Amino acid sequence: MFDKKKIVIVWFNHDLRVRDNSALTHAVDNFDIIIPVYIHDQSEKFFRATGAASCWWLHHSLKSLEKSLATLGLSLSIFQGQTAAVLRHIVEKTKAEALVYNFSTDKHNPFCRSQISNLLHDLNCQETVFFDQFLYCPDSVHPQNSHYYQVFGAFYRACQLIGSPPAPIPAPNKKKASKTVSDGACSIDDLRLVPRNPDWAAPFSTMWTPGENTALIKADSFCEQGVFSYNRQRDFPCLDASSQLSPHLHFGEISIRTLWHKTNVQLPRCPTIEHEEEVQSYIRQLMWREFYGHLLYHNPHLQTEPMNKTFKKFEWKEIDGTLLKAWKTGNTGYPIIDAGLRQLWQTGWMHNRVRMIVSSFFVKHLRFDWHEGEAWFWDTLVDANLANNVGGWQWIAGCGADAAPYFRIFNPVLQSQKFDVQGTYIKQWVPELKKLSNKYIHAPWEAPRDVLEQALIDLGEDYPYPIVDSDKARKEALLAYEEMKHSKN
Ligand SMILES: Cc1cc2nc3c(=O)[nH]c(=O)nc-3n(C[C@H](O)[C@H](O)[C@H](O)COP(=O)(O)OP(=O)(O)OC[C@H]3O[C@@H](n4cnc5c(N)ncnc54)[C@H](O)[C@@H]3O)c2cc1C
Repeated sequence: MFDKKKIVIVWFNHDLRVRDNSALTHAVDNFDIIIPVYIHDQSEKFFRATGAASCWWLHHSLKSLEKSLATLGLSLSIFQGQTAAVLRHIVEKTKAEALVYNFSTDKHNPFCRSQISNLLHDLNCQETVFFDQFLYCPDSVHPQNSHYYQVFGAFYRACQLIGSPPAPIPAPNKKKASKTVSDGACSIDDLRLVPRNPDWAAPFSTMWTPGENTALIKADSFCEQGVFSYNRQRDFPCLDASSQLSPHLHFGEISIRTLWHKTNVQLPRCPTIEHEEEVQSYIRQLMWREFYGHLLYHNPHLQTEPMNKTFKKFEWKEIDGTLLKAWKTGNTGYPIIDAGLRQLWQTGWMHNRVRMIVSSFFVKHLRFDWHEGEAWFWDTLVDANLANNVGGWQWIAGCGADAAPYFRIFNPVLQSQKFDVQGTYIKQWVPELKKLSNKYIHAPWEAPRDVLEQALIDLGEDYPYPIVDSDKARKEALLAYEEMKHSKN
């Protein structure tokens, strides 16, 4: 009698790596035949379709994963279609006895998870889920009387009390038998993730190299150098002082545990307390990611509902298509905002400080519903991540967990003067203003006619006048906020 070979499906989601991948390692350690699969589901049945810029990243990330898996003797099978239907097909075809995956907040909301669990139960296929997306399993961090923390400081302290997250595990070192599913499968190219005619993502390649190897090299380089000046420089968009690891983290090309440990190992090496503060500041940002992930895990309705329910009554303005288009295309007449939105369009990424200024302008100066701005970010960011995006937008709109109060309204000119002192960032992304002096680059409408002429700017032609009056918009926003607070229903 031959022993029956144990077959497992490893279902990849936002964990496109072979190192420190609990699901993959579990499969290699416990099963004989591995079937790695990726399912591209744009049906929007249970979760949002991947945005256009993220699809570009996904294409390259899958190619990279395919290569890494091949070094382990494994072959990635690609599918497209509605997740549950595809999983049923794969399990039935392969007679796999188990399916193992890493949870993703973007996909595995309770509705999706229960459907998958029921399906696997019906098919007599054992399900094992890991939580690699987090440093701490979301069910393990909570106050005494609630499932989750709603205040960042308390959450962070609770995590610190737990201690270091588990150390990362290396890539599996044994080659395993792999099985592919040819029936119904397709190639990565068949998914048509990269745009053609026009290839609007062409400039992305000059900035980004998706994939696990690049993610690790970037993380090493940042933790050896950039992290020591992170806090001092992170708010200045022209300095490129942040790690730019967000898309790599989102697609799981590097695990958050790996990055946390690479960062923490620097703490005892810090020569001064100031150096230590720089490193701590970076860890704090990683913990914001953790916080938002835990919030969405426990409260999946956050992607549509405000955390602060009072905001359900907020009177957003009806969307004006012309103003919305001006914002999306970076033609608001406020240079720092236009620079950010053009950076986003051209690179699929925007500096964090500018994300805050741009989104604040959207929800407070234009008074448009945050969902609309969040949707634009979702489609155009290569790091579009449900927890962070919804968390960031709700924070700015004042309706999120531990959010900035609504009445704190970013002044786009003052922010620009403070964080882009020389106008370097503006000149990079809004080149029509590059001849304007520092004095006027933050507010070109204030420049005298001769100054504009010398800078070769015909305001209203070469660059727009502001689409809203900042002071007036600010007052109206505050009024709307007061009305919301005092409204009875
Ligand atoms: C309106 C708005 C929308 C946002 N949408 C997203 C999004 O879709 N995806 C996304 O990853 N981040 C989002 N952020 C958070 C932040 O802007 C980005 O994570 C950061 O700019 C990415 O650049 P970085 O990798 O160089 O960050 P670094 O400063 O190097 O930080 C390291 C990592 O920490 C995490 N991080 C940093 N800041 C934050 C933060 N404020 N909230 C949560 N996590 C953080 C990210 O994973 C980031 O890669 C948003 C912020 C705002 C204000």
